[in-house]
Amino acid sequence: MNDQQLLRYSRHILLDEVGIEGQEKLLAAHALVIGAGGLGSPVALYLASAGVGRITLVDHDHVDLTNLQRQVMHTTARVGQPKAVSGKTALGEINPDVKVVALCERASEETLAALVASATVVLDCTDNFATRHAINRACVNARVPLVSGAAIRMDGQVAVFDARSGSAPCYACLFPPDQQFEEVQCSTMGVFAPLVGIIGTVQAAEALKVIMGIGETLAHRLLLLDARSMEWTAIRTQRSSDCAVCGTRPA
Ligand SMILES: [Zn+2]
Repeated sequence: MNDQQLLRYSRHILLDEVGIEGQEKLLAAHALVIGAGGLGSPVALYLASAGVGRITLVDHDHVDLTNLQRQVMHTTARVGQPKAVSGKTALGEINPDVKVVALCERASEETLAALVASATVVLDCTDNFATRHAINRACVNARVPLVSGAAIRMDGQVAVFDARSGSAPCYACLFPPDQQFEEVQCSTMGVFAPLVGIIGTVQAAEALKVIMGIGETLAHRLLLLDARSMEWTAIRTQRSSDCAVCGTRPA
C-alpha cells in the first residue's frame, strides 16, 4: 500500500480484526455484484469505499425516476443511463483506486459461470427467484461464497451460502427450486426506502468478512427483519441431503 492508501484505509487498518493484512486481502479481492438497484447500491458503495480491489457490476436495467427513492447509488442527473454505468460512475467518485467493470446485461447461465469462477465473493442483489437460483448453482459449482439479500415492502432477509464449507447449506437447500414461492418484486409491491439500505449494508459487511476470513459469517443462519417492529429473527440453517443443487457435493 502507498501512503495515500494507508491514509484512506487507516480506520480499517486500526481495527484488530482487519489490520494491514485484512486490508490487503480486500485490495486483492474481486466482488461480483449482481443487481445494481436497491440492494446493489449500498453493497457496491461500501465495497468500493472499503477498498475491494475489483468490482463487477451486472445489471441489464436503466435508471428510472421511480428507482431514486431507494437506489442511492444513482442520481437524478443519471436517469436513463444503464444502472451498471451509473453505478460505475458513483464508485469511481468514492474510490478511484477500485477497478470497476460495468456489465449491462442479464445474468445468464453462461455469463454467470465465467464471472463467478473469477470472483472471491458473489453478492446476489437481484429480485427474482430464477436469477437467484442461477447464481446459486454457479456459486455451488465454482465453490465461491454467496451473500444473498432480499427486501420487499417492510420485510428483509439476508444470509451467506458458503460452498467452500461442507456443512453449510446453499440457497436451494432453504428454497428448493421445485417449490412455488410467492414471487414479489419491488416494482409492483413497494418497498420501504431504508430497508434495502439495512439489508444491503449487512450484505456488504458479510462480504468483507468472507474476503478477510474474519468473525463468524451468516453461513449457518438466515436473518429475517420485520422493519415494522425492527425485530430481527435468526434461523439456524442446515444443508439438505436431498438438495437438487448441492446434494451431491461431498460433506
Ligand atoms: Zn443445497
